[in-house]
Amino acid sequence: SATLYIVATPIGHLGDMSPRALDTLRGAAAVCAEDTRHTRQLLAHFGIERPLLALHQHNEDAQVAQLVQRLLAGESLALVSDAGTPLVSDPGFRLVRAARAAGIPVSPVPGACAAIAALSVAGLASDRFAFEGFLPAKAGARRERLARLASEPRTLIFYESAHRIEESLADMVTAFGTDRPAVLARELTKLFETVLDGSLGELRERVAADPNQRKGEFVLIVEGAGDDADAKIIEGRRLYAKLAEHLP
Ligand code: SAM
Repeated sequence: SATLYIVATPIGHLGDMSPRALDTLRGAAAVCAEDTRHTRQLLAHFGIERPLLALHQHNEDAQVAQLVQRLLAGESLALVSDAGTPLVSDPGFRLVRAARAAGIPVSPVPGACAAIAALSVAGLASDRFAFEGFLPAKAGARRERLARLASEPRTLIFYESAHRIEESLADMVTAFGTDRPAVLARELTKLFETVLDGSLGELRERVAADPNQRKGEFVLIVEGAGDDADAKIIEGRRLYAKLAEHLP
């Protein structure tokens, strides 16, 4: 019967495209892609030509019913995103949920994922971790989110883009303290791959000092809060700062 394949693509280095990913794309009736131009180029690189269907943030709801109909009619489909694993800070959740609800097999073709790639080289505890994806764009919401994470004991994984990396590091210093160990993984698997480790304060300084360290795509990994008093002190400071805002 027809299957919906969720296919990971590289996060940079094209050598990370798996043979099974290529076979699956070749065998699919159509490939659902976040950005069809981008995916057409990727497929062309591997000599694959398949019909492409756009499935992105803005049309996912509208497309899902149609795609489920095609699957029910017996056509196997593949879903890819622009980079890495679909559904990880990328579209696809609604399609997968609808396909499962319709009794259609959904099968993964695993591969690169920036969060896991970064975690695997960070040297921070990896037995338990929390993937936080992108922080809110607005400063207030971002600070609030970080404040609520200050006492989280698991290793924290964030995605970040070039234009917000400095602000996010600054807000993390405030929320988690200057000394909290962290790792900044930039441009993984690409030409300018850089993995910096240090305290949040040090990372903020290195990024501020070197414009090259502000370019590209980032995963930021932050050690979890110790179960000692630190987290409580920081939480206390946060509450105090919040209260102070309301004092005359
Ligand atoms: N689905 C993707 C995955 O599996 O990692 C993530 C897509 S999300 C829209 C894009 C974000 O992933 C970037 O802003 C960056 O935080 C992270 N990212 C993607 N590729 C990366 C790379 N080569 N190095 C570091 N971070 C990367």
